[in-house]
Amino acid sequence: MTQTIQAIRGMHDILPERIALWQTLEDRARAVLEGYGYQEIRTPLVEMTDLFERSIGEVTDIVEKEMYSFADRNGDRLSLRPEGTASCVRAAVEHGLLATPHRLWYRGPMFRHERPQQGRYRQFHQIGVEVFGLPGPDIDQEVVLLTRRLWHTLGLGKLRLEINSLGESDERAVYRHELVSYLEGHRERLDEDSLRRLHSNPLRVLDSKNPDLEPVIAEAPRITDYLGEASREHFAGFRAGLDAAGIDYVINPRLVRGLDYYNRTVFEWITDALGTQGTVCAGGRYDTLVARLGGRPTPAVGFALGVERLVALLASAPPPVTPGPDAYLIAVGDGPRTQALSIAETLRDARPDLRLICHCGGGSFKSQFKKADRSGARYALVLGEDEAARGVVGVKPLRAQGEQTEVALDQLSDFFTARC
Ligand code: ATP
Ligand code: MG
Repeated sequence: MTQTIQAIRGMHDILPERIALWQTLEDRARAVLEGYGYQEIRTPLVEMTDLFERSIGEVTDIVEKEMYSFADRNGDRLSLRPEGTASCVRAAVEHGLLATPHRLWYRGPMFRHERPQQGRYRQFHQIGVEVFGLPGPDIDQEVVLLTRRLWHTLGLGKLRLEINSLGESDERAVYRHELVSYLEGHRERLDEDSLRRLHSNPLRVLDSKNPDLEPVIAEAPRITDYLGEASREHFAGFRAGLDAAGIDYVINPRLVRGLDYYNRTVFEWITDALGTQGTVCAGGRYDTLVARLGGRPTPAVGFALGVERLVALLASAPPPVTPGPDAYLIAVGDGPRTQALSIAETLRDARPDLRLICHCGGGSFKSQFKKADRSGARYALVLGEDEAARGVVGVKPLRAQGEQTEVALDQLSDFFTARC
C-alpha cells in the first residue's frame, strides 16, 4: 500500500468540527477592532531574514533558534514570519503610512521552530494590532481596553492582566549593569541558558521558565526602580487610565517580553486554565523600531494574541450551536438533476444570504433525503420529474413537524424571506 503523508509536526489542520470556534473568535475580533477604528493589513508570509534579525534582535529565542530560514533559488536569505510586528513596520515604512497616525490590525499564521506541546506549535495563528504615531499612554490604555472588550464579547472571564515598564534604552543600560552584577553574584544558581544570556541579553534571564531560578529572580533588582522621570510619568499615566476604566492588573517587574524592540509599557493577558502556556495576549510599546528599520522615528504600540490558546479556552466553554443550512435541494431524475443547480443559482441571486446545499452525486430519493436530514437543514427542497414539469418544488420541514407542501419556483425566494 502507498504510504500516507502526514502534516508536519507542530503544524495542524483545523477541521470543520472545530472551525466554528475559530470563526467566532475571528468574527468577534474583527468586529471589535473595526469598532475601534483599526484597519486590516495583510503582509506576505515570507520576508527577508534581515528584517527579523534587525527588529526582533539577534540574541532572542526567535532569531537564535526558532526561525524557519532558507535560501531561495536566487540565494536570498528568507524566513517564514515568526511574528507580525516586523512585517507591519516594514510595510508602513515602504508604503509611507507613517506621516499620520495609523491603527492597523492583522491576522494569520506565524512560524516558529519550537518544541511542540499543548499551546505551543510550529505553525500557530495570531491576531494583532500595531498603532503608529501616537506617543502617549492613552493609546497604550486603548489597546488594553480593546482586548478586554474582546474577552467580554467572547464570554472569557478570569484573564489576568500583568503590566510593567521597561523604560528607555539608557535607563535599561543602567539597570542591565546592576542586574548583571546581581546575577554574577549568584552564578552558581543559574542554568545553562541563563549563563549564556548573562552578558548577551541579561533581561531575558528574568523571563526564564525554569522554576529553579525563581528565588534568584524574585530577589533581583527591578527595572521599575530605574525609570527616569518621563518613563515614570508615562507608566503612571497608563496605570491611571487602567484604574479609571476599572481594569484590574498586577505590576510584574519580571515581565520583560522576549523580543528586543520593546520600551516603556509592556503587558500580558494570562489565564490559569491552560497550564504553563497561559499567556494568551502580549504586547507593548516599541518607539525605536520604526527608525531602526529605516523609517522616520515614529512611536508605536501593539500586541498579538495567540489564536490557538484562545480557541482552547473557548473550547472549554459550552460549544456554540453551529446552525445547519437553511435548505437542501434534492433532485431525482435526469431532467430535474440538470435543472437543480440553476434553480439554486436563481434562488441565491434573490437571497444571497441563504445557506443552501444543492445535492450532487445522484442517488435515489431515499438516499438523498437521508443526506438532507443529516446536513441539519431546516427544509428539504424536492425536485422530481413531476414537480419539474409543473414548475414547483416540494418543501418538507426537517426540524419541525409539518407536511410537505409545494411552492412555485418563482415564489421560492418569498417563501424563504418569510421564514429565514
Ligand atoms: P511564550 O513566552 O509563550 O513563548 P512569546 O513571548 O514567545 O510567548 P509572543 O511572541 O509575544 O509570544 O506572541 C504573542 C502570543 O502568541 C503569545 O502570548 C501566545 O499566545 C502566542 N504564541 C507565541 N508563540 C506560540 C506558539 N509557538 N504556539 C502557539 N501560540 C504561540
Ligand atoms: Mg516564545
